[in-house]
Amino acid sequence: MKQQWKQRISPWVLQGSRQWMRLWGRRKPLWLAIAVCALGGLFLGSLLSRTVQSTLSVTNDAVANPTPPGLRQSSLMFTEASDRPRTLVKPTKAVARRGMVAQKAPRLDRVVGDRSTDCAASPQQSRNPKSLMALQNLPLNRFRVSAGQTRGPVAEQANVAHYTNFGWRFLADWKGRSALYEPIVVLHETVGSFESVMNMFSSNHPDDEDQVSYHALIRESGDIVYVVPPEYRAYGAGDSVFVNAAYQEETVQTKSQSPPSVNNFAYHISLVTPEEGQNDEDTHAGYTRNQYEALAWLVSKTGVPDDRITTHKLVDRSGTRIDPRSFNAPYFLSRLHAYPRTQEVVIGCTLMDSPPPPKAT
Ligand SMILES: [Zn+2]
Repeated sequence: MKQQWKQRISPWVLQGSRQWMRLWGRRKPLWLAIAVCALGGLFLGSLLSRTVQSTLSVTNDAVANPTPPGLRQSSLMFTEASDRPRTLVKPTKAVARRGMVAQKAPRLDRVVGDRSTDCAASPQQSRNPKSLMALQNLPLNRFRVSAGQTRGPVAEQANVAHYTNFGWRFLADWKGRSALYEPIVVLHETVGSFESVMNMFSSNHPDDEDQVSYHALIRESGDIVYVVPPEYRAYGAGDSVFVNAAYQEETVQTKSQSPPSVNNFAYHISLVTPEEGQNDEDTHAGYTRNQYEALAWLVSKTGVPDDRITTHKLVDRSGTRIDPRSFNAPYFLSRLHAYPRTQEVVIGCTLMDSPPPPKAT
């Protein structure tokens, strides 16, 4: 029986395979082309279905959860002690639009105007960091356009950080996606003494993990010391995300091996910690009236709206930062509202009417 079955089948198989070999030999290019097309089609199909799926799931999530779970709004309006809103800020249409635009498409048109020339296009196309060396002994109007023209309640001075402790702001992240967000102000405290942090900023730090800076420091007397010009990126926060009033996360990854951070669009201001607070306790005596006044005055000159003023603690994602401790946000905001908002501190790339950017060395 078995024998019979084999005898009947095998000639048929043999003949078929011979026929196939003949066809293959004659039409090899055709078969290959068909195979390549089929594989390409499969690949394209899977790509397309994945895109449709992700679009759909995003839309569904947005409808089901207008407030994404786990997202904590990181505006100063939300008190740090209880994590509950003191003043509920409804996302305005304007803010929602800003956030959406920032995430969807690069608004290069806004930046490629008269204040973009100092920006580096992307981390890959970063300018020579050593060209930042030229930025020593800058005049005060590189930190605040009208410095010297209007008298504030404070004394200002400039003491630029070592060039290893700050960098260019980027138009795109390391993957080439838009890195353009509206500016935010991030508040800090020094924890260490004024002298110790100034010493840190002016030291040569070749290793990434040692590089640190703020844009400005506010001493207990209320004196402001500018450390990094506002068009450059100060290294004030590591692993960090700003959640805007529309609950969208804003952050920029500038290196594949480092976590994303808010530095690319942040203006970092640090209050000098009182001497009795130079430790790792949760609270201290707080800041002087002069410090609040100078801080309110300086923030008013950045033009940054209330809902984009935040603290290091609120943007931190490393779980290690709690500064500024003992900060009286309602008092600060009441002082802030006493000053007219201007845009004398330009958190962009190039100050208008500023000296030409330094040439790469
Ligand atoms: Zn900090």
